[in-house]
Amino acid sequence: MHYKAIIIGTGPAGLTAAIYLARANVTPLVIEGIQPGGQLTTTTEVDNFPGFPDGIMGPELMDNMRKQALRFGATIQSGLVTGVDMSNRPFTLFLEDGSKLTADSLIISTGASAKKLGIPGEAENIGRGVSTCATCDGFFFRNKRIIVIGGGDTAMEEAKFLTRFASEVRVVHRRNELKASKIMQDHARGNEKIAWSLNRTPLEVTAGPMGVSGLKVRNNETGEEELLEADGIFLAIGHTPNTGFLGGQLPTDELGYLQVISGTSQTAIPGVFACGDVQDRIYRQAITSAGSGCMAALDAERFLSEQTLHIFA
Ligand code: NDP
Repeated sequence: MHYKAIIIGTGPAGLTAAIYLARANVTPLVIEGIQPGGQLTTTTEVDNFPGFPDGIMGPELMDNMRKQALRFGATIQSGLVTGVDMSNRPFTLFLEDGSKLTADSLIISTGASAKKLGIPGEAENIGRGVSTCATCDGFFFRNKRIIVIGGGDTAMEEAKFLTRFASEVRVVHRRNELKASKIMQDHARGNEKIAWSLNRTPLEVTAGPMGVSGLKVRNNETGEEELLEADGIFLAIGHTPNTGFLGGQLPTDELGYLQVISGTSQTAIPGVFACGDVQDRIYRQAITSAGSGCMAALDAERFLSEQTLHIFA
């Protein structure tokens, strides 16, 4: 199948791009991958998205955006894009099920995924006590001991959220100072169910037949190893932009974020646009993501109309 525009990803960026392109009669195809709705579907209350004075639940916000895109005629299809050929226009997309799609323009809004530590015991215990999503898995740890690894805003938010279920939540962070914003730190520090193991480097996830049993850490002050007992370990150490399927065809910065021409969504290849967390290492908010999705749609629309003008010139 051929489309004028294909949007890859259904977070706030991709769905906002879909709403704008659909309203401009471009009828985009939106490809929804393994996490429809993106990172906000793993959050609870979103308090800072303008227009919702009492807040809105993340999944509900994304569901609303999806419905809005469909209302204007966007098509949403499930699938995993495994490769893209951008050497010629139309661009060709290869999907996991073996099918191919072509598009005159492409909007990449594939977001970013949770980082892993890469320590022994981590990978094999995902789903057996190791998790990257507090809102998805917190419920399973009612009255259990939980460790949250990380010192950023996500770690603070997840630790606070997990106190709803856990008997104790312990934040493990590799430095003495937290990276999180002051307000998030204050909220977490004011919560008496949260304990702190700062200046500890995670070394190994320990587990038994029933799943995770603890986290081995190095105390960076004394150099000694310690075992922190826990039933669940939540990783909150940041995210990696999802660009693997592009096979290095587009330039990225040193952290892997796609590079765009400043003030636009235009990547190094004409007709290919990027928006949302996949190209944003600084702001990474739902609202900035949605805003950049709008920019990508307007840029794509302008690109497509210029192509049409060339054909008729
Ligand atoms: P960050 O990159 O801000 O923080 C990651 C944390 O994990 C850091 O404390 C870092 O340590 C630690 N870390 C990274 N790699 C390792 C490792 N290999 N071993 C041990 N520790 C590690 O990511 P976040 O997900 O917390 O936040 C991302 C962005 O999203 C931020 O801009 C944040 O402000 C925003 N955000 C906003 C929220 C809100 O406003 N409600 C909620 C959640 C996130 P170190 O400090 O030593 O680098």
